[in-house]
Amino acid sequence: MDDQEIQCSYCARKRCFIGDLSQAPDFCPSLTQIELIDQAKTKLMEPENKRMAQDVARTWKDYGRLTRVEETILYAKLRGCKKLGLAFCVGLSEEAELFSNLLLNEGFEVVSVSCMCGALSSDDVDLPEEDKIVSGSRQPMCNPIGQAAVLDAQGCELNILLGLCVGDDTLFIKHSKTPVTVLAVKDRVLAHNPLGALYTSRQFYTRLNTRRPKKADK
Ligand code: SF4
Repeated sequence: MDDQEIQCSYCARKRCFIGDLSQAPDFCPSLTQIELIDQAKTKLMEPENKRMAQDVARTWKDYGRLTRVEETILYAKLRGCKKLGLAFCVGLSEEAELFSNLLLNEGFEVVSVSCMCGALSSDDVDLPEEDKIVSGSRQPMCNPIGQAAVLDAQGCELNILLGLCVGDDTLFIKHSKTPVTVLAVKDRVLAHNPLGALYTSRQFYTRLNTRRPKKADK
């Protein structure tokens, strides 16, 4: 691997965690990208970013005790949010209802928008027939830009994603003017636990080649 190729994934020491870079590898971005890291730190010191980062740190106080659902609620409270946006996948409608109940019971206002808002189909983006699941049929299509627009227009202070498809989340995050956090991501096969594929890649999901490639060896 090229010394300058930044690959924290292959750093055995993770010295940044203890704030001592003396034994960090040559490819460590903390050492090779000093200017960028300094610029990022300056940005982090901007008042709003600083407060946001402090609130993240505050969610760590009960380290390891709170579920992500609870951490999301805590973060929203720390941020002082009154009105939350929930952008959910129609396939997780039950979860969206449960989570909305929870947020309302915690005292938030909630605006929830399904991915199917606008009733779009893949014909709206001129998807070729051969790329549809069933050629010649109406294929429903998510509307993440619409979800973001609706939630922004409603004055939501934090948008929470629940189960959006890969790429739809990208479009949502790209277009949301409101800060975004992710409660859960979509994995139709693994009960929305995509890491299960990695955890079992050496036993069951062997079609995923997670062996360390030669080029990664130093
Ligand atoms: S930032 Fe440096 S020390 Fe931290 S994981 Fe990356 S390479 Fe390792």
